[in-house]
Amino acid sequence: MLEVSKLTKSFDGGSAVLNEINFSIKKGEVVVVVGSSGCGKSTFLRCLNFLEQIDSGEILLDGKKIDISAKALPKYREKIGMVFQSYELFPHKTVLENVMLAPLLVQKRNKAEVKAEAEKLLARVGVAEKKDMYPRQLSGGQKQRVAIVRSLIMHPEVLLLDEITAALDPEMVREVLQVVLELAKEGMTMLIVTHEMDFAKAVADRVIFLDQGEIIEEEPPEIFFGEPKTERAKRFLNTFH
Ligand code: ATP
Ligand code: MG
Repeated sequence: MLEVSKLTKSFDGGSAVLNEINFSIKKGEVVVVVGSSGCGKSTFLRCLNFLEQIDSGEILLDGKKIDISAKALPKYREKIGMVFQSYELFPHKTVLENVMLAPLLVQKRNKAEVKAEAEKLLARVGVAEKKDMYPRQLSGGQKQRVAIVRSLIMHPEVLLLDEITAALDPEMVREVLQVVLELAKEGMTMLIVTHEMDFAKAVADRVIFLDQGEIIEEEPPEIFFGEPKTERAKRFLNTFH
């Protein structure tokens, strides 16, 4: 479904943060990206959503090379949802307004239909009763669940999740990860960056280990966590014990 070939990205003429990355994800697959801080995980996700301009390489969606002209980009971004560590909700809009904004403005959908779907999705992640509140009136876990709903209502083909529990207190981590696990069960295609290794084990079909700008391991979670092939992956995993 989503395919990347020889993706290279550097900042300000420095050395490559991502160096000729080849990667693909199939419909319904859940891939977890791990690696030490600064190894390029967020940059990778941001490149896939064209929040960063890539230096070279290709990104294909359903076999078609992405046309990154300004006109085509919004259409493409609709298909690739992204949720961030910092929620990025609009502070002066209510929960419902946050969720309804893009489907109304970008997709020009019918308001009543969007509202009904927004309420249904909010109920599904357990924040239905917060719909008329503002983000500041919500806990971190509730804000993050609203942010997930805001992505879901666009019906993305792929969801990119970048450390979505990193800013949360431990007791809120679980409620957010539970939502992601349910999405995985329902067949949502997801590319997930996380430092929650137990969660990675539970949710991943495949784990990718990024190091020094390259994917140096790519295998099912049982193998990656059980018997990693490289010394670098072993060292990385040891920091979690
Ligand atoms: P973490 O686990 O801490 O979130 P990460 O793997 O997500 O780390 P990135 O944020 O992708 O790492 O950063 C990869 C490298 O690119 C880092 O060395 C970082 O300093 C650099 N970098 C990221 N964004 C920029 C930017 N806008 N300008 C310059 N350098 C950047
Ligand atoms: Mg990051």
